[in-house]
Amino acid sequence: MSKQQTTTSKQAVYCLSTSGRCFGCDQKLATGDLAKITEGQNGKELHCLKCSQLDCLTVLRSGNAKVTRLATKQSSTVYAILQWSELWKCYERVGVLVEPQAIKQVDNKS
Ligand SMILES: [Zn+2]
Repeated sequence: MSKQQTTTSKQAVYCLSTSGRCFGCDQKLATGDLAKITEGQNGKELHCLKCSQLDCLTVLRSGNAKVTRLATKQSSTVYAILQWSELWKCYERVGVLVEPQAIKQVDNKS
């Protein structure tokens, strides 16, 4: 494990670049779907948001840095949404998963 990560949110879900199946409920996951990826005994395991109990969270796409910052501050649960970039050959953050009420609070303030 490297220590170069300075982000506060260590938790992440992935925007799938290939389709697959949820390890928990066998639901088909398409390219672009969000899933949690864990290292299992037989390699990587995909877990849909429902099985990860994250389906109550709302997707907030990157684009408005101010809204993202405020919403992640308001939300007690924050997951980064990471997507593999063919261009950069690394994962980049394309959004965050936050509690719906956090987005509401941001809306009220703006
Ligand atoms: Zn599932």
